[in-house]
Amino acid sequence: MTPPAAVIDLTQSGIRAIVFDLDGTLYQSEELGHEIAACADRYIADLKGVTPAEAARLIQATREVLKERTGYSSSLSHACIELGGDLEVLHRRFAADIEPERLVKPDERLVRLLKRLGARHELHLYTNNNCSLSGRIMAALGVADLFRRVFTIEDSWRPKPDRDVLEGILRAIGMTPSQCLFVGDRYDIDLRLPAELGCRVFLTQTVDELLTIESIIT
Ligand SMILES: [Mg+2]
Repeated sequence: MTPPAAVIDLTQSGIRAIVFDLDGTLYQSEELGHEIAACADRYIADLKGVTPAEAARLIQATREVLKERTGYSSSLSHACIELGGDLEVLHRRFAADIEPERLVKPDERLVRLLKRLGARHELHLYTNNNCSLSGRIMAALGVADLFRRVFTIEDSWRPKPDRDVLEGILRAIGMTPSQCLFVGDRYDIDLRLPAELGCRVFLTQTVDELLTIESIIT
């Protein structure tokens, strides 16, 4: 199913909170994505006693099976769980092996945008990444202090999309769905459930696209 390029009801106002995804949304780094995928490959390779290349094919095939089963794109986390992996172990490896500081640089346009948005809205972050790595990525981007709440995989060990976790986040930030705008780079993973609950959603896959968000929030 092809997601809409940017989904938002331009005529409505009343947004009080903006909930951002992190990876692929606030920054793009193909290289960091490759490092995360390679680390997952090594983990599944160790788990299954296969080579990393075989593990990569196994993960890809599993994501396709999950997509067929659910009708939606699946996350790397869900594929690793399906393959018998332990998310806590996988994320400990991510945190130990990956050095985002090498690949993610401060982005002044993003910092200025979030500061302007933060003056009028509560900003929150909800990521399938872990606490250590997401904190280091936010620090590398220069946006570490700009979010009121940061929800990581470690809060629940239940990756997006997860309806119970999402409803828990809305309760935690004290907002109704109609008061929230969710922003993410993967419709099925970041935005489909919030949209189903009645939140507004904004799909963005580049910082240039993200910068247009201001023109549509009233
Ligand atoms: Mg993302």
